[in-house]
Amino acid sequence: MNLKAFIRDIDNFPQEGVIFKDITPLLADAKAMQYTLDRLLEMVGDVKIDKVVGMESRGFFFAPLLAQRLNAGFIPVRKPGKLPAEKTSQTYDLEYGTDTLEIHSDAILTGEKILVHDDVLATGGTAKATCDLIKRLGGEIVQCNFLIELDFLKGRSKLGETDVKALLNY
Ligand code: IMP
Repeated sequence: MNLKAFIRDIDNFPQEGVIFKDITPLLADAKAMQYTLDRLLEMVGDVKIDKVVGMESRGFFFAPLLAQRLNAGFIPVRKPGKLPAEKTSQTYDLEYGTDTLEIHSDAILTGEKILVHDDVLATGGTAKATCDLIKRLGGEIVQCNFLIELDFLKGRSKLGETDVKALLNY
């Protein structure tokens, strides 16, 4: 199945000069959605995963589905102020300014095997901050798993030795 046919480019969103990959047509198609989930699972392979961590907000589309199929728990990484219980925060640099992500401090136990999933790997800032949070809680990252990688932004270079896999490259 040609999944790229289900992803559309939106010019100048969310800001001037950005070409945004919109995956909502893929989400709206039952067969494309099922096919995507199967391929994302193939990328993980036959390894034990304790928790799947998904990033707000588009990481939440597939991360819980992956968790269910892997017989793992799902852990949300959220923007500041959204999580109710004791949390761990990580600030990272953007092109202009900084951003912060948070995780519940009891969400991951030392030594747990973690799959990280997000829809898009762009500059890698989001994924790097998420990996830092997981490591601070003692988790072992098995793979960073993406639907889309924007190769020209070289996000994977921020993720060091971590296994980084994407289903579609642009
Ligand atoms: P990064 O931190 O620059 O790698 O950006 C990745 C984050 O921004 C992910 O959480 C994505 O959901 C979001 N993102 C960046 N570019 C796009 C895009 O073209 N389409 C959808 N989401 C994007």
